[in-house]
Amino acid sequence: MRVYFDHAATTPVDPAVFAAMEPFFTREFGNPSSGHSFGRTVKKALEEAREKAAAAIGAQPDEIVFTSGGTEAINMAIRGVARANRDRGNHIVTSAVEHHAVLDTCRDLAGEGFEVTVVPVDEYGMVNVEEVAAAVTDRTILISIMHANNEVGTVQPVAQIGALARSRGIFFHSDTVQSVGKVPFRVDDLHVDMVSISGHKIYGPKGIGLLYLRRGVRWQSVAAGGGQERGRRPGTENVAGIVGLGEAMARLSVHLEREAPRLAELRRRLIEGVTSRIPDVRVNGHPTEHLPNIVNFSFAGLEAEALLISLDIKGIAASAGSACASGALEPSHVLLAMGIPRELARGSLRLSLGKDNTEAEVDYFLDVLPDVVARLRAVASGAAAPPSR
Ligand code: PLP
Repeated sequence: MRVYFDHAATTPVDPAVFAAMEPFFTREFGNPSSGHSFGRTVKKALEEAREKAAAAIGAQPDEIVFTSGGTEAINMAIRGVARANRDRGNHIVTSAVEHHAVLDTCRDLAGEGFEVTVVPVDEYGMVNVEEVAAAVTDRTILISIMHANNEVGTVQPVAQIGALARSRGIFFHSDTVQSVGKVPFRVDDLHVDMVSISGHKIYGPKGIGLLYLRRGVRWQSVAAGGGQERGRRPGTENVAGIVGLGEAMARLSVHLEREAPRLAELRRRLIEGVTSRIPDVRVNGHPTEHLPNIVNFSFAGLEAEALLISLDIKGIAASAGSACASGALEPSHVLLAMGIPRELARGSLRLSLGKDNTEAEVDYFLDVLPDVVARLRAVASGAAAPPSR
């Protein structure tokens, strides 16, 4: 059996999304900026995709800027607001559990003279709105707090943070790469000024994403070149990718309404199965405010790398924390920020479910895991390893 439990790293492209993209690689190859019929056909498809993407999140089409993915959208949001508002202030507030795209961008800006306050999280990975409020000063121009965490699935009180930001006249960006399509999502309800979305996490293609940029946000482009995307993101558009992203976003409501409850049930089955069969395991993340599809376990007395290899041999693909951090020996910054001891954080496994996962796959995993964990724990403690089944 081959089981893919790594949908937070990436998802397969939905066949319907692929079908919509296909013509734009070969037949409909025009440049959308060209005035002739080849260009006009493509331009129309691009604008239709923009409308679909906007409608999916309750935005206006002209508030959508297509990018090369979540990382670029995040860079554009943070750098674009920081540079455009330098005359108003130099202070940025973010959290300790952000993706590296946010943390490293803020670190870069700190090198350019901005001040960055990183608010902590509690043991469940949750940001406290009062701590965000306390961090704000009259020099604060931007708050960037993610909607849902990619490692433990904790969903942050984004609407409350957004309301706070608005009341203080501060721009608010949220990295929503993992939350869109998993939890209810309307930009007005979330009180966000900017959100970042990635195609390949929502059954769309890789290398495409978008920045939602609310009308009226004081923002400046971070790249120079042509006038594409109303000058906000110069460069010839990834047309097939944009068409695919539009299709993927048009399907988000199905994922939310039909898939999310099913995934939540599979997740519950996983937690119940793991915690009842294996001793000394901790479930990381918030007990109620969490995504339906991500679960993170820490197993005392073993290394996640060894666990991942053993699972891979059994055909199961999972992850230790985030994909970007795997291979590195350092335990995840998210788990450490939650106060999980280093030793325990090293034995952490992230399972992220998706639309094609089944109950039978969960049961297969639950069948395989106890032996694997027992063997690795025995090896790590220096005891003779029980024979593997
Ligand atoms: N933000 C979060 C929370 C993510 O999980 C990821 C992907 O790992 C990104 C940003 C980056 O998105 P992309 O891979 O499209 O650049």
